[in-house]
Amino acid sequence: MLSKLLRPARTLPSRAIYARSFSASPIARGVQEITRPAIDTPLSLWNFTEEENMIRETVAKFAQDVIAPKMRDMDEREEMDPEIIKGLFDNGFMGIETPTELDGAGCSFTSAIIAVEELAKVDASVAVLCDVHNTLVNTVLRLYGSEAIQQKWLPGLATNTVGSFCLSEPNAGSDAFGLQTTAKKDSDGGYILNGSKSWISNSAEADTFLVFANVDPSKGYKGITCFVMSKDMGVQIAKREKKLGIRSSSTCVLSFDDVKIPKENIVGEIGKGYKIAIEILNEGRIGIAAQMVGIAQGAFDHAVTYAYQRKQFGKYIGDFQKMGHDFAEAAIKIEAARLLTYNAARLKEEGRPFTQEAAMAKWYASTIAGEVTGAAIEWAGGVGFTRDLPLEKYWRDSKIGAIYEGTSNIQLETIAKLLRKQYIS
Ligand SMILES: Cc1cc2nc3c(=O)[nH]c(=O)nc-3n(C[C@H](O)[C@H](O)[C@H](O)COP(=O)(O)OP(=O)(O)OC[C@H]3O[C@@H](n4cnc5c(N)ncnc54)[C@H](O)[C@@H]3O)c2cc1C
Repeated sequence: MLSKLLRPARTLPSRAIYARSFSASPIARGVQEITRPAIDTPLSLWNFTEEENMIRETVAKFAQDVIAPKMRDMDEREEMDPEIIKGLFDNGFMGIETPTELDGAGCSFTSAIIAVEELAKVDASVAVLCDVHNTLVNTVLRLYGSEAIQQKWLPGLATNTVGSFCLSEPNAGSDAFGLQTTAKKDSDGGYILNGSKSWISNSAEADTFLVFANVDPSKGYKGITCFVMSKDMGVQIAKREKKLGIRSSSTCVLSFDDVKIPKENIVGEIGKGYKIAIEILNEGRIGIAAQMVGIAQGAFDHAVTYAYQRKQFGKYIGDFQKMGHDFAEAAIKIEAARLLTYNAARLKEEGRPFTQEAAMAKWYASTIAGEVTGAAIEWAGGVGFTRDLPLEKYWRDSKIGAIYEGTSNIQLETIAKLLRKQYIS
């Protein structure tokens, strides 16, 4: 649907065009100068292209019409409805940035971020499925895959095949480059994969897997290489996790037992997998921030609507001053998280440094998603604690934001390191 509706060419907003640049004065002794480009017509972060607005509208409608009626049941059963996955593909939401020549929608990164936010307002599990698929799997293949790899794998990923991103292992979480999965060179020039991956999102539904393995453990992280493979090449699902939140999103342990992979399936350069993982997770984090913004907004919308339907002491509970002030504080936090997220997305699109801003967006959005969803339960009183309202689900779903694609501590570590660089001469 998107690919038919949207213009094929990606158009950046005019704010991306800079007329001149200047250097800000150092604000303190020893502080490095930070170059900030100037633009002729500064615009707010609430400016979107026509296609981005259209994506927001179509994803929001899909989420309300198709996902909302199934969301509670999927959470109870801990399973994703295949009809929803089909709907994501049929509407073009699974190849948002994939070029139209490869059957994608050819849209901007911000479009993908908007899609994740809108899906998470209704169901964070569907949001993460779409997020991992677009911002990790498709993007790795688009940015680092050879022409042949892109032609072979991207059309399927845009139209009918779910993808998984396999980096984490039982002994390699925050320290992902300590991974132990090996890919030993075979006599025919291919590789033999052995090892195990843990916490792999989408893996129960996926047929395409990006797997990070070490081709030469003696080189440490400089042996890490990215491979693309299909399930039938030998991906085994060893265990499906039972989780607190995002329960209909599958999270599995995978094992690889002497799996043969042709050398044509190497994505990017041999030994450069660590670089791919770092770069891709830097931008993937913006997607998780968007997921958290969506979760917070979804819980807020449900709880505040309820507060203006429920009466106590003869008036709507939302009309008590303390309740109104709580809503105001939560709205400020959601807006701040959203703007951090949009800003990081635009910086990335404009080709400017965004690592610090992405880490800030993810840390802050995860933090406030936990706060706002927790408060939303309390605003609804006893019914907020039951499954009659989805508030308890939003709260459970929010918890993952501080864990995957780099824990909150790791985000703070990234920000602290980058700050140190700015302040040290
Ligand atoms: C539902 C779910 C889905 C996931 N999906 C995927 C996926 O699709 N693909 C994938 O590859 N991985 C995935 N992951 C893995 C996820 O990225 C890791 O769980 C995460 O990076 C944390 O690793 P860990 O669980 O081993 O925790 P650990 O690294 O053991 O961390 C435990 C605690 O120690 C703290 N800690 C660790 N190191 C430091 C440090 N240097 N400084 C301060 N504190 C530190 C952490 O902040 C955390 O609080 C998923 C995880 C979950 C739970």
